[in-house]
Amino acid sequence: MSEGARAQRMKVEDLLQRTTWDVDPRPHITVDADKCARCPTKPCVLLCPAGCYTEVEGSVVFSYEGCLECGTCRVICPMGAVTWNYPVSGRGVQYRTS
Ligand code: SF4
Ligand code: SF4
Repeated sequence: MSEGARAQRMKVEDLLQRTTWDVDPRPHITVDADKCARCPTKPCVLLCPAGCYTEVEGSVVFSYEGCLECGTCRVICPMGAVTWNYPVSGRGVQYRTS
């Protein structure tokens, strides 16, 4: 079985258990808090699969350390508040499929 086929057959939970992070001290994603304060729906809180966005007393708090680099927040943010880059080469999420 190819590596890609094996990865497809793994459950997401299994994949995440094998996942590690080499966190860059420089955030690869930044969020404009002023825009978040005016955001009517805050979809990032529900849709980020890593739970990087949380709502605390009406304000959105963001932490990049557990980011899975899926790009969802960049696409779904209705306010253009997310500045998104990949971490510098070799840093960030480290997926392992075997
Ligand atoms: S969707 Fe965008 S603007 Fe709205 S709370 Fe999330 S990051 Fe902020
Ligand atoms: S890229 Fe994906 S995992 Fe990372 S913060 Fe955005 S939605 Fe969450």
